Amino acid sequence: MANETVPANPYETAKRQIDIVADLLGLDPGTRAILKHPKRELTVNFPVRMDDGGYRVYTGYRVQYNMARGPTKGGIRYHPNVSLDEVRALAAWMTWKCAVVNLPYGGAKGGIICDPKHMSRGELERMTRRYASEISSFIGPEIDIPAPDVYTDSQTMAWIMDTYSMQKGYSVPGVVTGKPIALGGSEGRGEATGRGCAYVIREAAETAGVRVKDGAVAIQGFGNAGSVAANILHDEQGARIVAVSDSRGGIWKTEGMNPHAIEEHKQKTGSVVGFPGSTPMSNEELLEAKVDILIPAALENQITRTNAGKIQAKLVAEAANGPTLPEADQVLFEKKVTVLPDVLANAGGVTVSYFEWAQDIQGYFWDLEDVNRRLEHTMTRSYAEVHAAAQKHGVHNRTAAYVVAIQRVAEAMRIRGIYP
Ligand code: NAD
Repeated sequence: MANETVPANPYETAKRQIDIVADLLGLDPGTRAILKHPKRELTVNFPVRMDDGGYRVYTGYRVQYNMARGPTKGGIRYHPNVSLDEVRALAAWMTWKCAVVNLPYGGAKGGIICDPKHMSRGELERMTRRYASEISSFIGPEIDIPAPDVYTDSQTMAWIMDTYSMQKGYSVPGVVTGKPIALGGSEGRGEATGRGCAYVIREAAETAGVRVKDGAVAIQGFGNAGSVAANILHDEQGARIVAVSDSRGGIWKTEGMNPHAIEEHKQKTGSVVGFPGSTPMSNEELLEAKVDILIPAALENQITRTNAGKIQAKLVAEAANGPTLPEADQVLFEKKVTVLPDVLANAGGVTVSYFEWAQDIQGYFWDLEDVNRRLEHTMTRSYAEVHAAAQKHGVHNRTAAYVVAIQRVAEAMRIRGIYP
């Protein structure tokens, strides 16, 4: 994959972005300094009993970046490359993502340095429960609400919910989101990221100069976010899904493919590759294909200075987190490609997580139509606000989204004042 200029330190990138927006908004030095620091950071080193009878010490983090607007929210990642600076950056980005869609939350993130692919289910459960226990005084429905991220899922959330509840002595479903429905999860959460992405594409299409109906769409990463976006663009908006890919490669068909049939093929064979009637294509070719709409829905750092100039799509919707490098943003902006940045385009997930939390603390659950209607409203309004900020400041949508978000966070800080 073309990723020759991966930023060295994501926290430095996050701070640079804050400076750009602080300059645009003319923020005072004090506010700027607060925005560039995480409010709280917890590091925990803890032992886990392994299947071979020995013990291993793991290191985990939880960073609560900014809580001016409410309790903090963000996922927990299990990966060998987790670092405190990565968690800080991800927590900052969660702060902006929650604020862009105007959720009453600050941002947080957590992670454990581990290699989940080489751990048994029992080891994962013991590691998760011990980490949950170590951070339990730091989280809670009114403090900080974790969710799944890379290599964590609804089962991980169920273990955290159970561990936290055991310590309290009563069930606390609102301590995490992304739970199974049986434990207080929300209808529509599984689909929310792809659905939200499809809604913002619909809203942005006219300005971007594309028609979604019959428009050609390419999707890199036919996983949760990518396949749902494909289904909704195809079923509800009449788009032509001409290219999709996964880690094994991509496929193309000019007339368009039925994403539900691709899903069935993937379930049977383990990959989209070999879908009947399609032509194989590489992931690099998919990014540069002649399409109207491109949805990176797999990994970070896919659109770089090198390939940005070759992108033919007029609209790029970032279902994935961080698929576009900062220098590529500028190239796309100059080429007049409309980019819907990750903090907006994939914010459907955290939006329905917020709905899940709201339902849990009310103890009253909504049906799927209700969830989707509210999601559509949030995404439509948020796109309009980001678009208006882009017009007003003459900047691309990513900077505009940060402007909307940072303005909201700074406003909350200003009204609250500095204690004491
Ligand atoms: P997923 O694991 O369900 O899907 C990822 C897909 O990408 C898989 O089909 C995988 O085969 C494919 N892939 C992996 N490596 C690839 C490569 N080199 N080239 C092309 N495809 C490759 O994950 P997901 O939940 O859909 O998440 C995808 C992206 O969306 C991530 O960046 C994630 O952070 C972001 N995101 C997801 C959610 C959510 O609610 N699921 C919310 C916000 C952001």
